[in-house]
Amino acid sequence: MNPSQTVEDESQLSNSTTARRIQRLSLHLTPLPPLQPSPQLDMLTCAKASKLDVDQGPLSSYMRGKHREIQEKIFEFFNSRPDLQTPIEISMNEHRELCMRQLMGLVREAKIKPFRYVAEDPAKYFAITEAVGSVDMSLGIKFGVQYSLWGGTVLNLGTKKHRDKYFEGIDNLDYPGCFAMTELHHGSNVQGLQTTATFDPITDEFIIDTPNDGAIKWWIGNAAVHGKFASVFARLILPTHDSKGVSDMGVHAFIVPIRDLKTHQTLPGIEIHDCGHKVGLNGVDNGALRFSSVRIPRDNLLNRFGDVSRDGKYTSSLPTINKRFAATLGELVGGRVGLAYASVGVLKISVTIAVRYSLLRQQFGPPKQPEVYILDYQSHQHKLMPMLASTYAFHFATQYLVEKYSEMKKTHDEQLVGDVHALSAGLKSYVTSYTAKSLSTCREACGGHGYAAVNRFGSLRNDHDIFQTFEGDNTVLLQQVAGDLLKQYKDKFQGGPLSVTWNYLRESMNTYLSQPNPVTTRWESTDHLRDPKFQLDAFRYRTSRLLQSVAARLRKHSKTLGSFGAWNRCLNHLLTLAESHIESVILAKFIDAVQNCPDARSRAALKLVCDLYALDRIWKDIGTYRNVDYVAPNKAKAIHKLTEYLSFQVRNIAGELIDAFDLPPYVTRAPIAMQSEAYAQYTQHVGF
Ligand SMILES: Cc1cc2nc3c(=O)[nH]c(=O)nc-3n(C[C@H](O)[C@H](O)[C@H](O)COP(=O)(O)OP(=O)(O)OC[C@H]3O[C@@H](n4cnc5c(N)ncnc54)[C@H](O)[C@@H]3O)c2cc1C
Repeated sequence: MNPSQTVEDESQLSNSTTARRIQRLSLHLTPLPPLQPSPQLDMLTCAKASKLDVDQGPLSSYMRGKHREIQEKIFEFFNSRPDLQTPIEISMNEHRELCMRQLMGLVREAKIKPFRYVAEDPAKYFAITEAVGSVDMSLGIKFGVQYSLWGGTVLNLGTKKHRDKYFEGIDNLDYPGCFAMTELHHGSNVQGLQTTATFDPITDEFIIDTPNDGAIKWWIGNAAVHGKFASVFARLILPTHDSKGVSDMGVHAFIVPIRDLKTHQTLPGIEIHDCGHKVGLNGVDNGALRFSSVRIPRDNLLNRFGDVSRDGKYTSSLPTINKRFAATLGELVGGRVGLAYASVGVLKISVTIAVRYSLLRQQFGPPKQPEVYILDYQSHQHKLMPMLASTYAFHFATQYLVEKYSEMKKTHDEQLVGDVHALSAGLKSYVTSYTAKSLSTCREACGGHGYAAVNRFGSLRNDHDIFQTFEGDNTVLLQQVAGDLLKQYKDKFQGGPLSVTWNYLRESMNTYLSQPNPVTTRWESTDHLRDPKFQLDAFRYRTSRLLQSVAARLRKHSKTLGSFGAWNRCLNHLLTLAESHIESVILAKFIDAVQNCPDARSRAALKLVCDLYALDRIWKDIGTYRNVDYVAPNKAKAIHKLTEYLSFQVRNIAGELIDAFDLPPYVTRAPIAMQSEAYAQYTQHVGF
């Protein structure tokens, strides 16, 4: 306190600070006025296009999906509780505590009980995750650690006895837990984990050990402060009566209590350290765990895919370590599905803020005329409109993924399991990489104001960045997609069935094997270029070509380099193949969504957006298409011109398109996104 300041002064100061803070918070909650049409559009000289008439109601309801109600309940809850909203400036420890209070509030006050949806209605569960993550991404991740990861291992890798014992405690947060897979020396390579769980037949227990520092569990969410249990991934070691003395049965998951349920003291044999301040997600308490002869009952083995009897005999319905490992990881794809879905949520927020700002901000203009809205600059449209189109595309693709995942959970159909595994790996990596790049573009599209923390890009970018790494590093996941495609390709030539998502390969591979039709390569009419058949054929042709050529290269190189060396020699080619395939799936799902839209005006708007998505992608890869004469030079030019024209048309309905995401003001609470009152609210924010 300033020595000349009185207590009264100080209290007045603190009152006015409080009042200002309340006023600022209320700004975040004020509903947005409807977007005004831009009076300056007519000025635009680069293109003229008739504006599509979009009825936002039907478009919004088509986009909302069937679980909007529970999302609104979550938004209302946080809207009514400013004390649970994350301030811009907050220390790591305060953020962690706030995040736990947010989670408690959600479960115990708002009565959102998510755990049963993990198994029974995954689509509803992911809708909750998306809403929670958009309140604060740390909260979304803490929520995911509790229910998808710690809860998910108990549900999916355990059996009835585990569900009966832990379900209620996990659901109501009496049993906060962690998912302890990663070790200091092994992240992506899960089969290389070194933590051991050795069966002791005398006491009927497993003994959990960290054999060396490289095996310390690292980055474990919820471990540093709040977790009471961990699902620990460790090699199951059984004593044998032969000369080896022990047998390694591969990686299994075990429930290990880490803190006392009543006193919260760390349990004997367990050492916990804090991973400390991170680039983002500082509301999540990541920690490191070391185990020294920690004894747990035999029952704590999550024994769905492999069990140990009282006399130390191992049984499993799956014949090999590799098959058990694949089945174990296969059950954990839910987290990946959730991340892909949540990443689209982040992209929607970011695109909404950037587009709203760009519809308001005016810079430069023709002499003696009003300044131009920055979204009327062709370069700005080029940055944001294909991104808006991609956001729509990813929205439908991830919805499809969630549907397939839900179906897989019900049927356990083997082919579907493989399909969802590859699709979730591909979409998670493709979408999260795209969103991460787009966050920087959106920040830049908002100029200096995009750099003010209050406008959210900093926290969105920092929090989202790691989506590219956890739940499987993107580069590693794309290789799984490529591997799956090659397997399907091999099966095709051996007459085997192709799974659902890859079905298109059968047809397009035949097209690919014949040369491009010299007549169609020259077609350049708008009708042809906007025909979904042309667009989808082009995407699929590229995938088939990449698949065919990489298969030939792998065959050639494996003779001299072996299969590992050959794979590495072709790695970039394989990654391009995986991305190309995922883009084909995304486009196919977008085209379906356009065709299935019941409202004619919304359908027309979606068709426009879908065309922009498809042609922009083709244009970005035009070199590939030109190299093989899939498109003639004039056709390439026509694609470019049409893409720019479509960008402009999408710009004309950009306001309606972002409003159809129907994100509440609380979620997009950046002052620069506050439409017509932007400057007033922004200046108030800094204290004027
Ligand atoms: C904030 C945060 C929270 C986390 N939460 C948890 C948690 O709760 N529980 C948990 O178990 N883990 C958690 N993790 C760990 C996370 O899952 C791992 O970081 C992730 O799996 C990647 O492993 P890694 O860090 O060892 O990276 P590495 O595998 O070492 O990868 C490093 C680089 O090498 C490249 N690379 C690796 N292998 C290949 C290859 N075959 N081909 C080409 N390139 C390759 C990758 O692309 C990457 O760029 C968390 C991590 C963070 C940062």
